[in-house]
Parts: sequence; C-alpha cells; structure tokens
Amino acid sequence: AKRAKRTGFPEVYRSEALDVMRAEFSIETELRRAIESGDLHLHYQPICDLANGRIVSFEALARWRTEAGEDIPPARFIPVAEEAGLIVPLGRWALDEALRTLAGWDEAAGGNCGVAVAVNLSAVQLQRDDVVPMVERTLAAHGLAPRRLTIELTESAIVSDRDPTADTLRALKALGTTIAMDDFGTGYSNLGYLQSLPIDLLKIDRSFVSGMLANRDKVAIVRAVLSLAQTLGMRTTAEGIESEALEQTLGALGCDYGQGYLYACPIGAEGAYQLLLERNR
Ligand code: C2E
Ligand code: MG
Ligand code: MG
Ligand code: MG
Repeated sequence: AKRAKRTGFPEVYRSEALDVMRAEFSIETELRRAIESGDLHLHYQPICDLANGRIVSFEALARWRTEAGEDIPPARFIPVAEEAGLIVPLGRWALDEALRTLAGWDEAAGGNCGVAVAVNLSAVQLQRDDVVPMVERTLAAHGLAPRRLTIELTESAIVSDRDPTADTLRALKALGTTIAMDDFGTGYSNLGYLQSLPIDLLKIDRSFVSGMLANRDKVAIVRAVLSLAQTLGMRTTAEGIESEALEQTLGALGCDYGQGYLYACPIGAEGAYQLLLERNR
C-alpha cells in the first residue's frame, strides 16, 4: 500500500507534480532552441466566402516538430511560450514568415494573389512588445499593403476599452490592418468593448458551430452573435465548418465567411497556394 511521506502528501502526487514541472521545463528549453534554429513552421488554412466559396484569406498556424520527430500542438507550446516570455520572438517570427509567404504567392501569381493572411497575436505580446512599429516594419519589408494582413486576437487580450492595448488596436486599425476577434463567445461577458474598439471581424468559436445542427441552443447563440455583428457593422467568420450542411445553414443565417475541415485542414505554404489556384480560378 502507498504510504504518505513526512509531508503528509502521498508520494504519488508529489512525483506527478514534479513530472509536470520537468516536462514544462524541457518544453521551454527545446522551444527556445526551436525558435532559434528554425524548427517551427507555419501551416495555412483557408477562410472562404460563404456566398461563392472563394478563398478570401489564409490563417497562419504555428507548427512545431521536435528534433525527435514529435509534433507538438500549439495548444501545448503557445501557453509555455507565453509564460517563458518566448511568445514575443515567436510572434515576430510568425508574422514575418506569414508575410514572406504571402509576398511569395504574389510573386508566383505575377501580382496581387487576391487573398490576405491572418496571424494570431497573443495578449501577452500585445502588452509587452512594441507591436505597431513592428507590424508596420514587417509589412514594409515584404512590400505588402496593410489591408493584406488580418490580426487575430482573443477576448482575453482586451481588458477594457480604455487600457493601453486598446490604443494599440486603434493604431493597428489606423495603419490599415484588419482586426479580428478570435474564438468569439468563449471569453468574458463584458461586451462593451465591442462598440468602442475597431473590430472588423468576429470569428464565432467552433464550440458553437460544431454540432449546432442538432442543438437549438447553439443555433440561438450563433444567430445572436450574427445579429450583434450586423448591428455593429462587423463581418463574421464561422470556425469549425466540417460539413456542407453547416456551410449552407451558416450562409443562410447571414454569416460571411467559413473556416474548417470542409475546405481544408491547415497545410504547408505550397499546398495552400495550389488550393488557392484551384478554388479561385
Ligand atoms: P485558433 O486561432 O482559433 O485557430 C483555429 C484552430 O482550429 C486551429 O488549431 C485549427 O487547426 C483548428 N480547426 C480549424 N478548422 C477546424 C475544424 O473544422 N474542426 C476542428 N476540430 N478544428 C479545426 P491549431 O492549429 O491546433 O491551433 C490552436 C490554437 O493555437 C489557435 O486557435 C491559436 O489560438 C493558437 N495558435 C496557433 N498558432 C499561433 C501563433 O502563431 N501565435 C499565437 N499567438 N497563437 C497561435
Ligand atoms: Mg486564430
Ligand atoms: Mg479561432
Ligand atoms: Mg479556436
């Protein structure tokens, strides 16, 4: 039988806690190395116009394959990066890489390839980094107009419409980028910020979209979000569209764009460009 140690704490818990700490420590060390040595890369997932099926943008999503060949999902390494202060270099890298890819697609297309890229910006980076000049510089470095970039933020990035991050958002908007609220509906319920901040796009969280065809409450929530967005003059994207039935329902409800496995999983830059050529010809 297991006996409690002197601390009165069963040994099994103590060692589990230690394992978690060790795992996080080694992830942090390896992630630092991965950022430096280029072991991170981006995948791109199309976002389509529900009215005609054309791709309007690609969301850039970070991917990490360790030297040992293990794929670590962003849900695991982004929080570690945020805690370890690595999200600033990671976020800068992701923006630069996504815009480099977009400029490459333009070059391949012999002009504007017709889509934007969406990059996720962590709340931590919004607070710590000098984001506005960084974004401006990176766009200029790749010769891209600001409207080719969408910046995705989660509700937790915004504490109130009067905190410094709100000014950062206004400056990003003034620069000409598109501001999207990611995973909308999963954050806290103070919606006051919506009317005073320059948000162009609401991305309805996948948790409301998937399964909504068999769930009246989800339909009601999605309808409410769509009507809120319409009232405030914002466009809408539904996340997690996995079937044609969902695509049709959301289109009929007046949602503007859709993203999900129905169109494509996140894929490498070349695959994404091929998809663009096929779908938008
Ligand atoms: P997100 O920004 O909400 O990105 C969408 C997530 O939903 C992606 O997961 C995507 O693969 C997944 N997804 C898309 N369509 C479907 C679908 O039809 N069904 C299902 N089940 N899932 C779908 P992923 O790539 O694992 O990323 C998870 C989260 O990690 C992202 O959520 C974002 O918050 C964060 N993330 C990823 N890359 C970055 C990055 O470069 N910077 C920052 N700050 N966060 C990132
Ligand atoms: Mg996102
Ligand atoms: Mg999202
Ligand atoms: Mg999400």
